[in-house]
Amino acid sequence: MIATAAGTTAPNAVSMVRMHAVAEEIRDLVTEFGGANSSEHGDGLARSEFNRQLFGDQLYEAMRQVKGLFDADNRMNPGKIVDSPSMTEHLRDAALPPAPPLRTMLDLSLVSGGADGMRGAADRCMNIGLCRKTDAGVMCPSYMATRREEDSTRGRANALVKALTMADPAAALGDQRLHEVLDLCLMCKACKSECPLGVDLATLKSEALHQAHQLHGTPLRSRVFGAIRALNRLGSATAPLSNLPGRLPVARRLLGRALGITPSRPLPTFARATLPRWFARRGVVRGKRCSDNASHSGPLTWLVDSFTSYTEPAVGIAAIELLERAGWDVRLADGGCCGRAAFSKGLLDQARKQASGLVDSLAGSDGPIVGAEPSCLLTLRDEHRALLGSDDPRVADVAGRAQLLDELQQIAHGTTRRAWHPVELIRAALAD
Ligand code: SF4
Repeated sequence: MIATAAGTTAPNAVSMVRMHAVAEEIRDLVTEFGGANSSEHGDGLARSEFNRQLFGDQLYEAMRQVKGLFDADNRMNPGKIVDSPSMTEHLRDAALPPAPPLRTMLDLSLVSGGADGMRGAADRCMNIGLCRKTDAGVMCPSYMATRREEDSTRGRANALVKALTMADPAAALGDQRLHEVLDLCLMCKACKSECPLGVDLATLKSEALHQAHQLHGTPLRSRVFGAIRALNRLGSATAPLSNLPGRLPVARRLLGRALGITPSRPLPTFARATLPRWFARRGVVRGKRCSDNASHSGPLTWLVDSFTSYTEPAVGIAAIELLERAGWDVRLADGGCCGRAAFSKGLLDQARKQASGLVDSLAGSDGPIVGAEPSCLLTLRDEHRALLGSDDPRVADVAGRAQLLDELQQIAHGTTRRAWHPVELIRAALAD
């Protein structure tokens, strides 16, 4: 019965009767002890039904009159506080037929709470509307920009539930209108951490894109962005020539037309001296620095991501130097792309292959896995489990060792475990 609140189990008639009986008992107890039936969330549709008993006829009628004075047509929040239906009347899940079968590429058990596959994952949304906030947090950036319901996490989750309830959900996932609704989702994953129900729209969008590609083919734009590591490597190998198109207005217009890349934003600049090249050239210096360092912290695996390594290597170089000054023996893991780019474009076969290759190469590495690109490190933690299965021990090992720079922890002298905040790292480097 309670599971209904998490959108995982459709309530049946017996559980609804039981739920109502529990609520009535609570109301009676609250009335007996002079308490209030609701707290920070107000009465809503769940508790308004009991207000006449709680407040008494006189007060309740007064509230009805006030409501009638300010809202004669009963347009604002009808059914809340006064004149409410039974709390069991609008239980949305009761109306949903069982989810039609759908074979998904991703293991969605982690995002659905184990129930009802992809629809269960989308149906976690309880329509609270916290994703419509604009004053704090980061969920949902596209809604903050457009203020349209369909660009909120809730709007997208509801659109997906509707598609996944159709008789042929695979066909419904290819619907153009659905993808217009999903299009502005940046896949930032803010909803996964800020939504109280943990709706993970980024993962759902990826699966929806994959299903659409099966029906309509994969757009050129998606293929190009999915191959970002190969493109960045090629760009760096041919720099500075490869940076020319980014500066020529004609080329930018062509890129805009063919791939939808806006000419009003600068393109990243390919660096000739990539991070792996810099690291390989200074191998001897590195070994000396590490052995000289009195506060040796152990081996650390640096993830060569597809972005900063080729277009902003200075960021990675600075971080590696800082880590070495703090006593870490940094080793480079250049095992290919984590699959993030392919995942975000719904190229899930490719993403799975890349994820598997990288996990294989990282499985033999030592110490924490750290990098300069948070989205790649978080891919090791989250998306790899959806791509390769949450039971794979190699995936669990790599996920458990993947850390953002500011999360890095050090076991000092084998006993003390302390957080290595960047400020602490800088202090350690200065003290060295
Ligand atoms: S992942 Fe998409 S839906 Fe979720 S907060 Fe980010 S932009 Fe919004």
